[in-house]
Amino acid sequence: MGLFVYKFGGTSVGTVERIQAVAQKVKAAQDSGDQIVVVVSAMSGETNRLTGLAKEMQKTPIAREMDVLLSTGEQVTMSLLCMALGELGCSAHSYTGGQVRIVTDSVHTKARIKRIDDKKIHADLNAGKVVVVAGFQGMDEDGNITTLGRGGSDTTAVALAAALKADECHIYTDVDGVYTTDPRVEPNARRLDSITFEEMLEMASLGSKILQIRSVEFAGKYNVALRVLSSFSEGRGTLITYEESAVEQALISGIAFNRDEAKLTITGVPDIPGAAFKILGPIADANIEIDMIIQNVADDATTDFTFTVHRNDLVAAKAILTATSDSLGAKSVTTDEKIVKVSIVGVGMRSHAGIASKMFKVFADENINIQMISTSEIKISVVIDEKYLELAVRALHAAFDLDKEPKK
Ligand code: ASP
Ligand code: MG
Repeated sequence: MGLFVYKFGGTSVGTVERIQAVAQKVKAAQDSGDQIVVVVSAMSGETNRLTGLAKEMQKTPIAREMDVLLSTGEQVTMSLLCMALGELGCSAHSYTGGQVRIVTDSVHTKARIKRIDDKKIHADLNAGKVVVVAGFQGMDEDGNITTLGRGGSDTTAVALAAALKADECHIYTDVDGVYTTDPRVEPNARRLDSITFEEMLEMASLGSKILQIRSVEFAGKYNVALRVLSSFSEGRGTLITYEESAVEQALISGIAFNRDEAKLTITGVPDIPGAAFKILGPIADANIEIDMIIQNVADDATTDFTFTVHRNDLVAAKAILTATSDSLGAKSVTTDEKIVKVSIVGVGMRSHAGIASKMFKVFADENINIQMISTSEIKISVVIDEKYLELAVRALHAAFDLDKEPKK
């Protein structure tokens, strides 16, 4: 017996039949004696459909009204699920975020949760009900509807699990767990039984888009045991947890990659104090996020400076950099979109030397040129030509034995 928060994403509630299947799963859990709080997303495609309608009205829709609009998607699902549960003889109540006092700040379309009042939910659970909460939304102090950003239902679920002190938070999705890498690129990718919060954050931020990043941060901060599993099949999924209880002791846990970046290079920059700030300051002022940065020192007192941004920001970043180049008296600005970032991630790196050289040997053996390198405590990333992505991922996967169960 325990208290569980189950979150079902858009594809898991995409049709009437799927919602009925979710109801069966929830009823079975309740019958076994568990208390269940369900968080639902909008039916798949619905949030995009609503966003499309808004964009027909206004190029940049009013943020407050956008939240009112988008929050309706989750309301549809929650009420339908309660009806499906009712059909199974299971008593359930649905609530919007505001109704269960998920209080957020007032930053429309990307609000952050400040607190949750768990009284009403506990009262319902103790009365034997299933509680269904609309994901992705809350209410600010003035009673305005807010939303938590795309994928925000994950964060609702984790925040509720923390507030209710749930035993586990289950994220039901269309994959049956977190894999060593994307199985579409490497069919030998293996499902991990567990992964640490830190590793998951690196995997997620690098483009393994299973969970909203903020939900993983939240879970790590409040020590919510988070499990990713499939709503379409049975299985234990992947537990995201602390390092101590992570049983797998592999050198690295996974390979992530990101196809969304582009590279900009400014050459012939005078090698003087303040140059980096002059180059990157205006980019930051334009709210463009910078990922990797490299600066080289050339012999002739000038330097080349390379950095990466999201591909969507490339045009804007290039315009800014070209203006900077003129004012700095630099030589040229070049860009490259045909790049990909490949990263190996693992807490095992902390205690093992030689992982970077092992990674670079793989690229040497495959004759793949490395354009940029960056490292953190548990991650090594390289930028390479995008045409080598599949080759690089598969070669790394094999070199680090990721297709094999780690030795216990
Ligand atoms: N429905 C929202 C979205 O599509 C929130 C979520 O599903 O987590 O982003
Ligand atoms: Mg999602």
